[in-house]
Amino acid sequence: MTLILPAKAVAAIVAHAEATYPDECVGLLVGTLNGEQKTVLQVVTLENRWSGQVQLAPTDDPTSRRDRFYLDPRDYLRAERAARAAGYEIIGCYHSHPDADPIPSERDRIGAQAIGGSGFSFVIQAIRNGVAAELTSWLLVNEGVRFIAEDVQIAPVE
Ligand SMILES: [Zn+2]
Repeated sequence: MTLILPAKAVAAIVAHAEATYPDECVGLLVGTLNGEQKTVLQVVTLENRWSGQVQLAPTDDPTSRRDRFYLDPRDYLRAERAARAAGYEIIGCYHSHPDADPIPSERDRIGAQAIGGSGFSFVIQAIRNGVAAELTSWLLVNEGVRFIAEDVQIAPVE
């Protein structure tokens, strides 16, 4: 599949990622699905609601949001209702990787099981020293076993 991202949508993701740095940001991509082509029309910024209920390793700071996010299902449902009312759907989500490569982590893979379906885009915006770097998109395949890279086309602003 191909994800069409208008330049203004990229700018919205970048602005969000830079504003929350060094924490991860999270949000949803609203748009249309047309065969193999998804087009983003709106970027919905959400709050990273990770609140440290889970300590993942003894050395882990459970309250850190620098390498994890929590997309609250209530935020998702609210955004989905608004998208459908406008005739669109949620076609993906995004989050940032502060000072890390834009490659899904194992934690991302586990978290992604609860979000979206087979054509759902998982966009990752890398951000280094507070400045936006590469953007990638991923699809969860093989019933959630692994991610594959998805083509991204940045469309110029109309
Ligand atoms: Zn991640």
